[in-house]
Amino acid sequence: MPEGDTLFRTAATLQRAIGGQVVTRFESVLPKLERVDVDTPIAGRTVERVESAGKWLLMRFSGDLTLLTHMLMSGSWHIYRPGERWQRSREHMRIVIETARMVAVAFNVPVAEFHTAATLARRPGFSRLGPDLLSGGFDAPTAIANLTAQPGMELGPALLKQSVLAGIGNEFKSEVCFEAGLNPFRKAETLTADESQRLIGVALRQLSDNVRQYSPKRRTTRRVERSENLWVYNRTGRPCRKCGEPILGRRHSADARLSFWCPRCQPMVRTNAS
Ligand SMILES: [Zn+2]
Repeated sequence: MPEGDTLFRTAATLQRAIGGQVVTRFESVLPKLERVDVDTPIAGRTVERVESAGKWLLMRFSGDLTLLTHMLMSGSWHIYRPGERWQRSREHMRIVIETARMVAVAFNVPVAEFHTAATLARRPGFSRLGPDLLSGGFDAPTAIANLTAQPGMELGPALLKQSVLAGIGNEFKSEVCFEAGLNPFRKAETLTADESQRLIGVALRQLSDNVRQYSPKRRTTRRVERSENLWVYNRTGRPCRKCGEPILGRRHSADARLSFWCPRCQPMVRTNAS
């Protein structure tokens, strides 16, 4: 699943390519989108803004219409010049948005919906999105309040909940906990104010670092060597980059994603500690 920084970059790239331009052609193989296009045509509208919100991508058109897409595992947006050959076959095409200068093509997006401002505000899963780490006005106090209000939930899975805060995926989850010196198996509700402030500060820094660099390889350590780009993610048994202790990796429950951590740098404190 793409993390927040990937979606943020996709949105920024689409914004540069088609933002502010008038749609000259719209095409979709998805019946629900086609129907909206027949009733209220997309061609002729201006692409006012393309932005990300957590793991969602929003393409806002003039006339109170927003295209909401979610990539899940398989989807992607490509940008081409008019007439340029696509890198994926046409059978994977779901949406085409063309302007005089550029063509944006969505391949295999599993979720794609048109919304007005009113229906978007009511949409389950989207309306309950927590503060977005990559939005300009990130609301840290609400994110911290959400995080510490997850009864019985361990820190790792709590960080992945998009209703708590938006933008952290599985890789950042472990990396953020390591740099903040917090054990991902601690209960989120036991975090002190200082600890949650530190955690949010690290998350903001790591995500914004990875938005600025236009490399597909994520980097949290600020080291140049490609093999040293991450602190703990996927490094089970290898020495901690700070203390040398072997890194551990474990699932939070049978169906949860793995967390990676250093047992020395990220001690497990008692859940009744304050
Ligand atoms: Zn360590």
